[in-house]
This record gives sequence, C-alpha cells and structure tokens, in this order.
Amino acid sequence: MAVDTTALVNALQTKIDRSRILTDAADCLPYSYDYSRNSHPPDAVVFATSHQEVVHCLSTCYQLNIPVVPRGEGTGIVGGSVPIHGGVVLSLERMQQILAVDVANRCMRVQPGVLNQSVQDKAAEHGFFWPPDPSSRQVCSVGGNLAHNSAGPRAVKYGTPRENTLGLQAVTADGKTLRTGVYTTKGVVGYDLTRLLIGSEGTLAVITEATLKLTPLPEAIGCLRVLYKDIHSAASAVSHIMAQPVIPYTLEFLDSACLNLIREHSSLDLPAQAQAMLLIEVDGPRVALPSAIQAIQQAASNAGLIGIDHAQTAAEKAQLWQARKTLSPTLRKIAAKKINEDVVVPVAQMAPFIQQLAEFAQTYQITIVNFGHAGNGNIHVNLLVDPNDAEQMQRSQQCLHKIFTLVIQLGGSLSGEHGVGLAKQNYIGYEIDPVTLELMQKIKQQFDPKHLLNPGKIFPKK
Ligand SMILES: Cc1cc2nc3c(=O)[nH]c(=O)nc-3n(C[C@H](O)[C@H](O)[C@H](O)COP(=O)(O)OP(=O)(O)OC[C@H]3O[C@@H](n4cnc5c(N)ncnc54)[C@H](O)[C@@H]3O)c2cc1C
Repeated sequence: MAVDTTALVNALQTKIDRSRILTDAADCLPYSYDYSRNSHPPDAVVFATSHQEVVHCLSTCYQLNIPVVPRGEGTGIVGGSVPIHGGVVLSLERMQQILAVDVANRCMRVQPGVLNQSVQDKAAEHGFFWPPDPSSRQVCSVGGNLAHNSAGPRAVKYGTPRENTLGLQAVTADGKTLRTGVYTTKGVVGYDLTRLLIGSEGTLAVITEATLKLTPLPEAIGCLRVLYKDIHSAASAVSHIMAQPVIPYTLEFLDSACLNLIREHSSLDLPAQAQAMLLIEVDGPRVALPSAIQAIQQAASNAGLIGIDHAQTAAEKAQLWQARKTLSPTLRKIAAKKINEDVVVPVAQMAPFIQQLAEFAQTYQITIVNFGHAGNGNIHVNLLVDPNDAEQMQRSQQCLHKIFTLVIQLGGSLSGEHGVGLAKQNYIGYEIDPVTLELMQKIKQQFDPKHLLNPGKIFPKK
C-alpha cells in the first residue's frame, strides 16, 4: 500500500522534530538493509530520542495503517530490521542513555540504543559486566540484543539476555506502554512477559528501556588453547568438559577449515596435524584458578589430543580471540556468499552432528566451515556458495533441509542466537508444532491486531 508521506510527516512532526524524520530515498537507503544483505526501501526513517516519541510514532502509524520496523544498529543477520513492506523504520540509535547504575542491587537501567560495549564499559567501572557478549558488541545495540536474545561465548556459564534482564518498558503497535518484570532478583506475579518480549524480534512491541542484571567481574580468567588431531576428539572433549563441575567461562570450537583460515590470515602458530581447536576460558577467584584449570585440562584430554597451551600474557590471549572473532568477517571476504546458520544441538550430540555435516558436505559438494559456542552446542555452520551458480544454490538448499532436519532429530534448535527474521521463517515449522505456532500467532494478534509491527517476519510466508 502506498504511503502518503506528506500526511505521515505532518502527523509525526507535531511531536518529533522534522530534522529527525527522513523521507528522501537516498537518505533512507542506509536503513533499507542489515547484515543479511536483504533489502527493501522504507518510506520514512524516524529517529526517536525518548519513550514519548516512540509512543507518538507508533500511535500515529497505527492510525494511518503504516508498518513500523524497529531498528537498533542494523547488524542483525536474519533480515529482522529490513522493512520488507516499506513504511517507517523506527531507529532507536539515538536513545543512547545509561539511565542508572544501581551497584547495591546489581543492575543498570538503559535506553535501547546503548551499544553493548558501552554497557560493558560502564558496568566495568563499578566492577561488573553484563554477560551477553556478541562478537559484534562494539557496534550492536542492547535493543537489538534483547530482540534477538543475542549472546556470545559467555552464555555457556552466564546465560543469554533472557537470564540477564530483570524488566522492560515497551510500546505496543497501537502506542500503549507496558512494563514487564521486576526490579528484584525474584518475582512471580503474572505471566513472564519479559522473557516473551526478549527474542520476539520487534514483532510484539518496541523496547524503550531495559533493566539489566549485572554480574561481578571475575577476579581472574585463565585461557587455554587445546588442539586435536580430529574433530571427533574435540567434540567428545566438549561433552566431557560440560559433564564435570567446573563450568568454563567460555568454550569455543573451531574446525579444520577454520584453522586453515587462521593459518592463512593470522600469525598464530598452529601445528600442521591440528584439525580442531577448543578455546577455553576459566574464571573465578585467583587462588581457585589452578585447580579449576586442572579439572578442565583433565576433562579435555583424550586419545586425539595434540596439546594444551595456557595463554600466559594478555597479548597471547588477545591474539587467540582475535583469530576466533575475525572468522565470520573473513569468511565473508573469501566466499561470494556465506549461508550462516547458528543451529544448536545438545552437547552430547555434537560429535555425531559434526560427523554428519562432513558427510553432507561430500554429498552436496559444498564447502562447510564450522565454529561456535561449543559449550552450548551452538555451532555456526557456514555454507560457502556462489550465488551466481544456480545449480550449487539448489544443492545448498537441499543440504540446509538435511541439516535442519538432523538438528531437530538430535533434539536441537534451528537458531541459538541469530533469530528467525526472514532467513528461517520458512523453516520454523520444522521445530514448532502447528498448535504451538498457532498460539504464537494469536499472541502476535493480541499485541499487534493490524499486523503493522515488523510485519512479515518469524512466521512462514502465507
Ligand atoms: C560481525 C558480526 C558478528 C556478530 N556476532 C554475533 C554473536 O556473536 N552473537 C549474536 O548473537 N549475534 C551476533 N551478530 C548479530 C547481531 O549483531 C545481533 O543480532 C545484534 O543483537 C543485533 O543488534 P542491532 O542493534 O544491530 O539490531 P538490529 O539489526 O538493528 O535489529 C535486530 C532485530 O531487533 C529488532 N529491534 C532492534 N531494536 C529494537 C527495540 N528497541 N525494540 C524491539 N525490537 C528491536 C529489529 O526489529 C530486528 O528484528 C553478529 C553480527 C555481525 C555483523
């Protein structure tokens, strides 16, 4: 439906400064896409600077029947902030205030546009951190983190935004304000709408404030690089590590293709026979660290172990993490297209899963590169393809179908942290049964009866 931008601007500018409403196509272009490379132009972009402006934008668009797509920093991987039906992109990037740090109650109140890194920096000044730590943390917003339940390496021990958020303030599609959760670490009055809104990908309400639960910074962190002669040995070490009492601070996994990339693109010294690597961190009081590290080393040892190196200096540790964190962008450089899946399997199923992926790579003649948050069984499965090769693209879709089917058979989930958005909407039925899916659609209906808030996402295309 064509949007009457004159009427829209006239209505919006009664409460939002005209300079923060874009309608020129060239000005709007940067807000037409995210990291997924999907794109569609919006009719307008609105930069809100307060809760009241979000309320005004949503209620205005509701009255005019105009779709609204909330957006943080646009680093999402599944097309979540792409305005596929046009309308308004409601950018929260200028709502960057840290409203309060409450040390005694271990929490922080923030606006949604605050960068994850800014939260970490502010929390660190007081001896705390917020556990969700996506690799994109320097450039992604807390609002986006909450909308996708985005996490990172520390989730293995400290959980995702769902476990680290006390409450939210949000605005529904028709401009009503709701407050969810509690300011305390316990509370069981009413339904848990905080957990419902977290991970709802901007389809139920726009988050305008969050109360984040903070965790004290560990006194010390030890870092181990563990090399294996094959992937199976690394995967089986992961199950052993997760079955003993010392929960690692991070437990990352890299396959042989990743190690080859690191050999080519970094100065990290890796022996030729190493075909898989675990990057493990252990945190805690300084005096307790040696015994914790020893327990992890013992669990990580098996017949396929090549060696365990303890990173001794901050520089050595930073080099290891640099290699891990640049894998995703490096893959983008070397492949014409990267189909990046972030499936999860129970940790005990990692070894058979990885084995089967190698067989799929053979069968469908597709290069598959795997790394990820092994402690959660969250594997980033990357299919490297050429979008101009129609036949290969068809094979990649068949391969994906096999991968997703296997993930569900093994008791896993199609997405650990990236979400559904546009990328997985046609696969959601693999995981969610029809009765549950219908209930979810009815929940969406309650929050957004006209289907104007981030329409066309999560649920299968009709
Ligand atoms: C190089 C790179 C590395 C990455 N690494 C990781 C990683 O390690 N772990 C991980 O989980 N993700 C990772 N991501 C993905 C991405 O950074 C996360 O999904 C991030 O949380 C998105 O934040 P954003 O501010 O960019 O959100 P956007 O992309 O702008 O939006 C994402 C979704 O959130 C919704 N949204 C945004 N703000 C709000 C709000 N205030 N209220 C309601 N809905 C809202 C949008 O509508 C959209 O559906 C990575 C991305 C890149 C490019």
